[in-house]
Amino acid sequence: MVAIYARQSVDKKDSISIETQIELCKRQLPDNTPCVVYPDKGYSGSNINRPEFQRLLADVKAGKIDRILTYRLDRISRSVLDFANLVDLFTKYGVSFNSTQETFDTGTPIGRAMLNIVMTFAQLERETIQIRIRDNYYARGEKGMYLGGPAPFGFRKIELRSEQGKLKLLEPNPETVGTLEQMFQLYGNEMMSLGAVARQFNEEKIPSPGGVDWDSCKISRILRNPVAVTADADVYHYYRDKGVKFTNEVADFTLGKGCYLYGKRDKNTRKFTDVSNHTLSLAPHDGVIPSSLFLRCQERLDNNRQIDNRTRSQLTWLTGLLKCGKCGHAVVPKSSNHGRYRYLYCTGRTAYSCCDAAGNLGSLSAVEAIVQARIFLWAKAYSALCSGASAPDHQARNHLRCGMEAVDARIEKLLDMAAESDDITVRYLNEKISALTHERQELESRLDQLCNCRQDAAPKEIRDIAAEWDKMTLAQKSRLAELLISRINVFRDGLNIEWKYRFDFR
Ligand SMILES: [Zn+2]
Repeated sequence: MVAIYARQSVDKKDSISIETQIELCKRQLPDNTPCVVYPDKGYSGSNINRPEFQRLLADVKAGKIDRILTYRLDRISRSVLDFANLVDLFTKYGVSFNSTQETFDTGTPIGRAMLNIVMTFAQLERETIQIRIRDNYYARGEKGMYLGGPAPFGFRKIELRSEQGKLKLLEPNPETVGTLEQMFQLYGNEMMSLGAVARQFNEEKIPSPGGVDWDSCKISRILRNPVAVTADADVYHYYRDKGVKFTNEVADFTLGKGCYLYGKRDKNTRKFTDVSNHTLSLAPHDGVIPSSLFLRCQERLDNNRQIDNRTRSQLTWLTGLLKCGKCGHAVVPKSSNHGRYRYLYCTGRTAYSCCDAAGNLGSLSAVEAIVQARIFLWAKAYSALCSGASAPDHQARNHLRCGMEAVDARIEKLLDMAAESDDITVRYLNEKISALTHERQELESRLDQLCNCRQDAAPKEIRDIAAEWDKMTLAQKSRLAELLISRINVFRDGLNIEWKYRFDFR
């Protein structure tokens, strides 16, 4: 007896009705072939707990069925694991199996492996679609909520009427967007502190949101908001590294849209730096701040350890960077003889008695001279690297980065899948993964060729550093050192520098 199995889930995303599925199956059979129909209406294919399907299984086991026909494989099951077991069961009872949409021969091991593979990729595709549907759903709600508040600085709200109803979105506010751009440029390019930007705006009597004076908090909050960025793969990468969730695929980060970042801010963590429980959505409006400038500002904000608001030590431009090579505690300078002799000591030894480093870690002037010389060398190597490269083609570069992120996502999915697959499938998945790995390496090397240097991120201050050094104030040197160096480990007989940027520009 021929069995026709049809299934449609309750949400009707499968679109083809049960009646059509049955009709299509019947067309495969010679006229008037006797058959039994097992229709499951309103059941998902994610498991096999479906009444008609169970009835079919019982009939298979009772030996009543010799052939099963279905519209598509995923009508039977959407789980690769279930499917593999079912195929085994059908084989055991001598039941052949066809779908009207896919062709394969379940009578051979290769045919069954093919089935498995088709199912595997159907599952992969479907998971992607499901995630997209779910996330878009949440994104809509969140966007609506977001736009319930006042428009972010530099923007104003407009309302569009379309066939889908009213759509609220943002557009640049001609009165304030210039200030917004200036803010990013000052903080990102001129390397001014947050406080200095606020002072300049106050002096120029630029109105601030809320009507009171500008301060570093206000500036920081505005710079942190990705609403104005022209989002690209670098922006995606930056937020991904911070643990942010996305409602869009990386491939969508090519259109230069602004972003909405939303989520509950944990009061106990650092205010604007921890966004790990946040979600980022591409907004419908176009961004106005180039992604490279936006990210430069984020990097500065990330590295800003409230130093702007703290009285800097007047003794050295290395404040905050010097650590004891033995215990890791801060190494601080002390001056004697009216600042003529400045020496370093470990606070781990003096304040916590936990370090046996020498009481005097050497002269500060000597350490400054070494670090200065190393900074010059670093800047020289960096400039050489930059001058060799033509201006990076941003679009081509972004395309490659998108490709790499997409390949990564596919590899991850395949790895997840391999965990619950049988041997034949795993072998196939392994091949697929190593092909993808090759593809990724290919993209990576093309990316390297395209931009062996992030020229757009090399500020003039670094290129001309040796010539400008003596003209720089203590504060300027300090800011520069902080930009380049994460920490300096000081030993009795020398030091080593941990650079923030080694020459591996992603
Ligand atoms: Zn120490």
